[in-house]
Amino acid sequence: MRAPLQQIETSGELPQSADAVVIGGGIVGVFAAYYLARRGMEVALVEKGRIGAEQSSRNWGWCRQQNRDARELPMATRSLDLWDSLAAETGEDTGFRRCGLLYLSNDEAELAGWARWRDFARTAGVTTHMLDSAEAGERGRATGRTWKGGVFSPTDGTADPSRAAPSVARAILKLGGSVHQSCAARGIETEGGRLSGVVTESGTIRTKLAVLAGGAWASSFCHQFGFRFPQASVRSSILSVSPGTEGLPDALHTARISATRRGDGGYTLAISGRGRVDVTPQQLRFSSQFLPMFLKRWRSLAPGGLQGMRSGHETLRHWRLDQPTPMERMRILDPAPDQATIRRTHARALELLPALRQTRISAAWAGYIDSTPDGVPAIGEIDTIPGFFLAAGFSGHGFGIGPGAGHLVADLVTGSEPIVDPKSYDPRRFDASAWGKVADF
Ligand SMILES: Cc1cc2nc3c(=O)[nH]c(=O)nc-3n(C[C@H](O)[C@H](O)[C@H](O)COP(=O)(O)OP(=O)(O)OC[C@H]3O[C@@H](n4cnc5c(N)ncnc54)[C@H](O)[C@@H]3O)c2cc1C
Repeated sequence: MRAPLQQIETSGELPQSADAVVIGGGIVGVFAAYYLARRGMEVALVEKGRIGAEQSSRNWGWCRQQNRDARELPMATRSLDLWDSLAAETGEDTGFRRCGLLYLSNDEAELAGWARWRDFARTAGVTTHMLDSAEAGERGRATGRTWKGGVFSPTDGTADPSRAAPSVARAILKLGGSVHQSCAARGIETEGGRLSGVVTESGTIRTKLAVLAGGAWASSFCHQFGFRFPQASVRSSILSVSPGTEGLPDALHTARISATRRGDGGYTLAISGRGRVDVTPQQLRFSSQFLPMFLKRWRSLAPGGLQGMRSGHETLRHWRLDQPTPMERMRILDPAPDQATIRRTHARALELLPALRQTRISAAWAGYIDSTPDGVPAIGEIDTIPGFFLAAGFSGHGFGIGPGAGHLVADLVTGSEPIVDPKSYDPRRFDASAWGKVADF
């Protein structure tokens, strides 16, 4: 069974023109469209499948500053405030709560790394508490084990992936924007070198401003007009269990297993960082640029299969704008979960958290996590096509920082003071090597 997801109604006819068009209705696209609509712009959002149906409903729901790379920490901090304020602004409930995140460990080196991060985070005004063995045992009592230590980050939280993107999409509609599902953008048009329109399967929208928030599809889209965006995906498999357990932490990370309370009272279970690499033409094209990332993460990655080839998101093909594209053939990227990982994850969770034995598996799924060579997203205008902006490559962190990323996009599109310094996100930085720059956590 797929990850649960609220459905929303699609707007009527596609507009012939708009102040801005957002391509992709994941968490980044909906927040970008929301913050553009709040500035009084006429915004149309086009989504090839359903709002939130790819990565944005398949994740754990963690919205964290804890262990964030320095380049992303300011955006993570601002995003938590934006998650907080959204409900008051819109009356929509994304399920966001500052429940705090709990990390437990018996590994001295890991604990030392978290302590170093705590010291760095203090300089950015972020509070996080190292736990000694007694405190870790107390906070982690559901495990019934002793721990050398841990971390608790009280200002972090979780939102509900099954309803976050649909809630923000409803907020866009309330502001007068339009949301078009089952509507793939096939490409763009330019006049005098500037963006002049977005071509979709249902017609062309004339616009001078567009944002590509296409998740795992962004690089193959950019390839159509010759912009080189190195991006590769890893297939991550996770499961959820039914409600019925009380007394577990809301959000717990250990090296063997992570558990997150869901909006329905059940839990999402996963092994952090674990994934399979399904070979694709795009992976081969960018393999040398991903070498530093691969060397850092190889212990948790395993070779996958051919399903990435069949799904078409990382194709190197050039497609025509007057015929169905790979995006229309694959409305929702829904890779098969790795059953061995699902079994191992469940067994480890029952071993660590015995209370979960009263529950049953309610769903298991996989998602392609789109990554850049340095593990930091690409957000900014594509210099060769003024008016066209990229916001993709969120490298497994995009749900939590979705509000800040969307806000930053709206700032850049409208030429306003940016909510955070955009320098680290420059889409052109991939022309340089990623050695020594891969995000730590
Ligand atoms: C298993 C798993 C666990 C994760 N856990 C976390 C977590 O706990 N915390 C966290 O912060 N992040 C987490 N992530 C990462 C997070 O989910 C992503 O970084 C984030 O959802 C990316 O959002 P997005 O909007 O960029 O992409 P997506 O959610 O993938 O959305 C992109 C959308 O664009 C659409 N699209 C693409 N091309 C076109 C086109 N041409 N026309 C129209 N529509 C198009 C797609 O259909 C899709 O709906 C996790 C990811 C996975 C898979």
